[in-house]
Amino acid sequence: MAAQRGAPFAARLVAWQWVHGRHDLPWQRTRDPYRVWLSEIMLQQTQVAAALPYYERFLARFPDVRTLAAATRDDVLAHWSGLGYYRRAHHLHEAARAVVEHHQGAFPADPQALAALPGIGRSTAAAIATFAFGTRAAILDGNVKRVLARHRGIDGFPGAPAVERQLWQAAEALLPDADVEAYTQGLMDLGATVCVRASPRCLLCPVAGDCLARREGRIDALPAPRPARAVPRRDVQLLVCEREGRLLLERRPARGVWAGLWSLPELPLGEDAAAFVQASLGVRPARSEAMAPVEHAFTHFTLTMHPVRLPLVDAPDHAPAERRWFGREDALGLGLPAPVRRLIAGLDAPVAGPAVAPRRQRGGAGTRGTPAAHGRSAGGRRSSASG
Ligand code: SF4
Repeated sequence: MAAQRGAPFAARLVAWQWVHGRHDLPWQRTRDPYRVWLSEIMLQQTQVAAALPYYERFLARFPDVRTLAAATRDDVLAHWSGLGYYRRAHHLHEAARAVVEHHQGAFPADPQALAALPGIGRSTAAAIATFAFGTRAAILDGNVKRVLARHRGIDGFPGAPAVERQLWQAAEALLPDADVEAYTQGLMDLGATVCVRASPRCLLCPVAGDCLARREGRIDALPAPRPARAVPRRDVQLLVCEREGRLLLERRPARGVWAGLWSLPELPLGEDAAAFVQASLGVRPARSEAMAPVEHAFTHFTLTMHPVRLPLVDAPDHAPAERRWFGREDALGLGLPAPVRRLIAGLDAPVAGPAVAPRRQRGGAGTRGTPAAHGRSAGGRRSSASG
């Protein structure tokens, strides 16, 4: 079916989606609300290609909401490890428990009831309700904001409340009465494959005929970028305490960065790592070797980690609360932040340079958001917020 030129926005989008949209993603082959919900949460801050293997692996371990609700937090985090934005995993676990406790294990069909569950905002609730129950509800995720800002010529940063209100009004006004699933999928597909951030493929766009940004030559200016702000930097030491092939890990606090994951113990930069180990484990490291710093960009700040390798002899088996000794392979099976996982996985390589005491050092000079693939950092490895 091909929509006529001049047909309503929704009709053109639906016709385009049937021919050119995505139809073979695993979560499109089901109406199971659990699977639809899982896919929507994973796709909140992760691209389809990156989410796919995690989706399959997560479902293999947690095939339904009751299995997920009954799982331990460590198990859930271990299966999320590497996908980043770990708050999503905590919310997923909490929402599964809420569905079992308050909805008898069945996801509600009403978008408002869905939005009351942890980690489900208005747009995600609408997407779940649409794809699982065929409910008519408007979505407004990041890709859709970009499409609508351009097509309707809406100025301003989409995260600003007044601009977001305008975008929601546009999303509601364009929503058709029928074919809501194809329409919603079409909006998502258009944003992901045609109306992309840089160099949109307007010649292939089904709604190009009345796109205001195109008509007015403002495609590059819309949507407006986030207002510039200084990104704070933080530096910490990461203590790589090794004893007979085992590593000391500690569980991170339940709130904050990498909440609930296992990681290497941290110490403020400039403090004496060897003295800290002696005070907490009762044994002084044989030596102390500074490794190359690792930089990691979070949404709100940039973290530079300065790993310090601390071989120990005769360290006690027991460790203070929330810390434990793990063999290398066992450690890699835990829920770890991605940069810490890479660091541990690479520990077999000999440490470069002479043994030196850790010194105060700033990390890479790059700005937040520089893709890891650029490999630009000042003597260290760089990773992104997805860790
Ligand atoms: S014409 Fe271009 S800018 Fe406008 S909605 Fe289509 S792809 Fe986006």
